[in-house]
Amino acid sequence: MLAEKQISKLFLISGAFHTPTVKHVASARLPTRHGEFEISGYRSLSSGEEFVCLRMGAAVENIPTLVRIHSQCLTGDVFGSLKCDCGLQLDRTMKLIGDEGRGVIVYQMQEGRGIGILNKIRAYALQDQGADTIEANLRLGLDVDMRHYGQCVEILKDLGLKQVRVISNNPLKLDAIRAGGLEIVERISLDIEPSDESVFYLSTKKNLMGHLIEKIG
Ligand SMILES: [Zn+2]
Repeated sequence: MLAEKQISKLFLISGAFHTPTVKHVASARLPTRHGEFEISGYRSLSSGEEFVCLRMGAAVENIPTLVRIHSQCLTGDVFGSLKCDCGLQLDRTMKLIGDEGRGVIVYQMQEGRGIGILNKIRAYALQDQGADTIEANLRLGLDVDMRHYGQCVEILKDLGLKQVRVISNNPLKLDAIRAGGLEIVERISLDIEPSDESVFYLSTKKNLMGHLIEKIG
């Protein structure tokens, strides 16, 4: 039986009170090669979405906390795919947090920008024929990016964070964190050296989706 804790706090967002839309389900210790994290599970109250959060150290007043909203990428995070930079970004984030001894990763389980793993493989098949990541989604009748980050930000706030140093190249995630009422005191870029396999994907991300990637022209 999972110990479930209803989040009873009300969140102050843009001057108005909002009732929580995520619920904490359980937390446990998770030793990793980057140090010991606490792993927590949250469930959306407005959809079937589940979230996993890794945290090291508690929030401390006036010390901005390292945070990342990482979007699930089975192929990159688990299989070490070279088609994208996700796995290396996650690994580098965990190392940064481990070195600092404090930080939070909200792992958003929306594979392939929300289209799911099977559609992502269908999109990869179209990319094998020359489509870029955006064209492939459009040809499958899917939105380019179906992710929403509001509930990830709610989780960061549930953990007591106010000031954050965000590890991200994605301006939409930065906007969502600001809109949720957290103060971004620093952005830490994650510039992964592109490989022959990832350079096309990364340049699409930079030039067509506005990602802040310095190592791509
Ligand atoms: Zn990926």
